[in-house]
Amino acid sequence: MESALTARDRVGVQDFVLLENHTSEAAFMENLRKRFKENLIYTYIGSVLVSVNPYKDLEIYTKNHMERYRGVNFYEVSPHIYAVSDNSYRSMRTERKDQCILISGESGAGKTEASKKILQYYAVTCPASDQVETVKDRLLQSNPVLEAFGNAKTLRNDNSSRFGKYMDIQFDFKGAPVGGHILNYLLEKSRVVHQNHGERNFHIFYQLIEGAEEDLLRRLGLERNPQQYQYLVKGNCPKVSSINDRSDWKVVRKALSVVGFNEDEVEELLNIIASVLHLGNIQYGGEDSGNAYITTDTQIKYLARLLGVDGLVLKEALTHKKIIAKGEELKSPLNLEQAASARDALSKAVYGRTFTWLVNKINVSLAYRVTPHNASVIGLLDIYGFEVFQHNSFEQFCINYCNEKLQQLFIELTLKSEQDEYEAEGITWEPVQYFNNKIICDLVEEKFKGIISILDEECLRPGDASDITFLEKLENTVGGHAHLTTHKLADGKTRKVMGREEFRLLHYAGEVNYNVNGVCVRAHGAVMCMSDNKILTQCFDRAELKDNKRPETAATQFKTSLAKLMEILMSKEPSYVRCIKPNDAKQAGRFDEVLIRHQVKYLGLMENLRVRRAGFAYRRHYETFLQRYKSLCPETWPSWQGKLADGVSTLVKHLGYKPEEYKLGRSKIFIRFPKTLFATEDALETR
Ligand code: ADP
Ligand code: MG
Repeated sequence: MESALTARDRVGVQDFVLLENHTSEAAFMENLRKRFKENLIYTYIGSVLVSVNPYKDLEIYTKNHMERYRGVNFYEVSPHIYAVSDNSYRSMRTERKDQCILISGESGAGKTEASKKILQYYAVTCPASDQVETVKDRLLQSNPVLEAFGNAKTLRNDNSSRFGKYMDIQFDFKGAPVGGHILNYLLEKSRVVHQNHGERNFHIFYQLIEGAEEDLLRRLGLERNPQQYQYLVKGNCPKVSSINDRSDWKVVRKALSVVGFNEDEVEELLNIIASVLHLGNIQYGGEDSGNAYITTDTQIKYLARLLGVDGLVLKEALTHKKIIAKGEELKSPLNLEQAASARDALSKAVYGRTFTWLVNKINVSLAYRVTPHNASVIGLLDIYGFEVFQHNSFEQFCINYCNEKLQQLFIELTLKSEQDEYEAEGITWEPVQYFNNKIICDLVEEKFKGIISILDEECLRPGDASDITFLEKLENTVGGHAHLTTHKLADGKTRKVMGREEFRLLHYAGEVNYNVNGVCVRAHGAVMCMSDNKILTQCFDRAELKDNKRPETAATQFKTSLAKLMEILMSKEPSYVRCIKPNDAKQAGRFDEVLIRHQVKYLGLMENLRVRRAGFAYRRHYETFLQRYKSLCPETWPSWQGKLADGVSTLVKHLGYKPEEYKLGRSKIFIRFPKTLFATEDALETR
């Protein structure tokens, strides 16, 4: 048999804390690379799981594998997403504490796949009953539905989630899953009306066009050709080799009924999807500076029928805007450009609200029938990673702000739990230094002088407020901040490196320029309040129109929902899965050093390792330690009769541990250096 030592040479260590030189990024990368080459995609940093997307099917997700990880401790088996799943489940069961699993990483790193694997693990391994079977089905089938409406092909990922998702899985006192709840965040609505080259709109549009039966298509007034639709041609990418829209359509239709949509609801839902396509094909005539008029009457006819709105009212809504002057409502005509953007704003609003309706509907179906007593929860967070593009808009700003918040939570919780543990065990330690990104979070979200506050103030200010006045205000209020750069310098001169409509934030993960273009625009959906479509009447609330309250801007809504999310996560015991994308080509076996090093950096993995190693590399309950190594000492073999702590003490003295190498806490032994444990492991191997 291969000795433990040579195996380590070949496949690296399964926990980064075991690296001799834990501060060396090169050693970290080398270990990751070695393991990746051996198809070992999982490695720990203590209890944090690092995962590298293999871009190929590994035979490691079978039922056998699930069984192997059931009820087993982390270090007894090789690292796996199932180990994390099982560990959270067991902590929830034994400690009666709600858990959450936070999955992070950039687009294409494997977050959504990881969350699906966790869900499958629970669906297979948790106890079941008849009612539970339907809940399991619904939990699993909610995925294809949400992915159809919320995922799209991007350059980075053929099945990229374009929304953030937090899902609670609720368990009863027997540990059976009995319900669930989903919170969705910030759907990328701009994709409805525009896609970059090589990208697509949301999957559902293509599934409908490719998969729907002839008479359904006819009823919806659609043709079986995505190239016919303005909203589907921008990316020039109707087909994707890894996607079969036609068979996915079948999967989604089935999933919709499992999740509990009746035929009427499906019909209304598809009416809306078709309407968005028709909206996109509405064209305008008119001079550049004159008033726009609609030249495509067929589309209006279909829209009127599918949505149950009056054609004339719809036409007017697409060519005029309402303004309130001296308490009176007036209609003012739009020019070509304004009309086109009013049309697109309406499409985005309709799609966005329908998506939220869909999530709510799934939540109703996942809500448990019988209120379980002593229920506990495992939450899964699968949310977009840090994004930097050539052109970054308000959406990237929100996504990156979200990542700042999660990073802050990560730092606080890992440091805090580490400190708490030493305290609970009565062990003294030296706190480590780390970069606290609170300063950036404050810059974004602080009351009155944070970026979002300033944006709100400008968006809601009547008069000449615009993107540019927002930028000016930003310059005047926080222009001197260490993490913010604007176009204008303090002495009134301008910076050449930056566009006039941009500001730059120095995030913990690097610099990003944001364009403020269109950031102050808000959509109006008044016409949709009059729709007969049952979904739309729920989405566009008539009361909203009359409401004289100061409306909330998108930025504030996002800030509020993030704050709630942080609260939810803080109340639970976290586990972390950090996903890494090995290359930009979506290719198996390719390990792109530069790309990966960058992710290691902004996922804060080196810092994480440093914190983990600051005190003790290893800790283990007396019982498990004794159980594993008792055979190495005649006094503890075959069993130790006295107090566990004394047994461990006897054992490690026999093994020759020096006093500075370990400490005995209240219930655990803490081992400072990995080599100490290595020696003991090797002794076990060669015994
Ligand atoms: P993210 O949600 O982080 O953007 P996904 O989870 O959608 O990324 O993964 C992108 C693609 O990578 C998947 O569609 C799949 O092809 C591949 N992939 C991800 N994780 C795995 C895995 N564990 N095993 C095999 N392939 C994977
Ligand atoms: Mg995803």
